[in-house]
Amino acid sequence: MNENFFAIIEARAPTDRDQILLRTAEGVTHSYQDMLDSTARVANALADLGLNVGDRVSAQLEKSVEGLWLYLGVLRAGLVFHPLNPAYALDEMRYFLENAAPALFVCDPSRADDYAPLCRELGVEKLLTLDANGRGTWFDTAAAASSQCAIAPRAADDLAALLYSSGTTGRPKGIMLTHRNLASNAGVLVDTWGFKTDDVLLHALPIYHVHGLFVAIHCVLMSGSSMLWLDGLDVALIRRLLPEASVMMGVPTYYTRLLSDPDFGASDCPSMRLFISGSAPLLKETFIEFRDRVGHDILERYGMSETGMNTSNPLDGERKPGTVGFPLRGTEVRITDSQGAALPVGEIGELQVRGDNVFKGYWGMPEKTAADFTDDGWFITGDQGMIDGEGYVSIVGRSKDMVITGGLNVYPKEVELLINDIPGVLESAVFGVPHPDFGEAVVAAVVTEAGATVSVSQINDTLYDKLARFKQPKKIEFLDALPRNAMGKVQKKQLREEWNEPFE
Ligand code: ATP
Ligand code: MG
Repeated sequence: MNENFFAIIEARAPTDRDQILLRTAEGVTHSYQDMLDSTARVANALADLGLNVGDRVSAQLEKSVEGLWLYLGVLRAGLVFHPLNPAYALDEMRYFLENAAPALFVCDPSRADDYAPLCRELGVEKLLTLDANGRGTWFDTAAAASSQCAIAPRAADDLAALLYSSGTTGRPKGIMLTHRNLASNAGVLVDTWGFKTDDVLLHALPIYHVHGLFVAIHCVLMSGSSMLWLDGLDVALIRRLLPEASVMMGVPTYYTRLLSDPDFGASDCPSMRLFISGSAPLLKETFIEFRDRVGHDILERYGMSETGMNTSNPLDGERKPGTVGFPLRGTEVRITDSQGAALPVGEIGELQVRGDNVFKGYWGMPEKTAADFTDDGWFITGDQGMIDGEGYVSIVGRSKDMVITGGLNVYPKEVELLINDIPGVLESAVFGVPHPDFGEAVVAAVVTEAGATVSVSQINDTLYDKLARFKQPKKIEFLDALPRNAMGKVQKKQLREEWNEPFE
């Protein structure tokens, strides 16, 4: 049996191949048959270029339908897809291209001249182009190829994608994902979230990251449903298309941006059945405001590039704000102390996962891979969490963000939640900076709501009798906004660098 994930995608495609797979904001439609034909062309073009099974195809592209065909065609050809954020600059790209060593790199035509010398230097033999409208030398190459092509045989354990993490805590790591990883997670998510043929997913996420590329697209392909394909977060456009959608996936910023439009509300969502959030923590305030205004409880789930999705709040049953729900079918989750011993319910510790969704290892980093897995096969996620008496998992933060001050641990989230509860505070980021006496000191960056005034002493007074002295921030500053990346992740690394003046 061919365990290529694309073989499963093909088998799950609707029997009526003329069914719509996606429709763009401009109203251009593509059927499942178009997807099958286009991916066959891509696979043939890749073979014509001389690429071999296992070769990496790196792609740094604006979102386009042709970019999607490229991803799926790479799978179909048995190659390894390596997507890259178009925001990465030339210097950053050197690391990725050197590290992934692709046989083919597809980039935007506007950048080809900059990349050509780098590709020559690094031995990346083929450089082709594709623009935001899906045109370029890659398009020409693929368009000329035949639309008949068998699916390359692959084993479940073979590589399907090389995804780099977001680089929130350090340099992005190459993550080796197999056909089994993609197939198992996709199958479970379709069931968990009740995807059916008649669903219409509003897809406004980028497609260089696990959320938009795998979670969203795989749910559609594996259920034979369809999607509305938007270039990105455009509130007016989302509001125009939402009435035709039944499911939306977004990072928390998508929901806060929708809510910041005072006219957005339940009347925008007549046929919506499900709003899903992930990639970064959804504030309880956002969950509650969305429930009050729109009448939907946003379903929050938790995952990472290394594992795909791990946990999800339930489709039926209570979605608890501030939690990421239950372990998905086939994924085990446990909380341990720093020695790896399992902790009881309600205690905070390292979050570890095990299951078919868990990646094969870090690309070219055997020591890191070995260090991040326990002897009995659990992956140490680097997140800290807790499981409550009902089995709901909460993410408390990242192990690397935990502040150790005077030898004592401070979980930033505990402090952030208290600050966020102060009237007039929109959100906050608590983190550690070097301190001569304590090793690290707790500090807080706070963002207030528009028009609100909150003072440092007000925050200090509020925390005074709620938190142990060592957990209270030694410095509080107000920012207009927290630094975030495109996936809505707060960049604490950047804050730490910016706030690095020594304490007196
Ligand atoms: P790097 O590993 O390079 O530092 P990264 O961890 O941000 O970057 P991703 O794999 O894109 O890269 O993100 C996974 C992380 O995102 C998780 O480990 C977790 O910290 C966070 N995350 C994802 N979903 C949620 C959620 N619902 N709530 C809280 N955190 C989340
Ligand atoms: Mg990570």
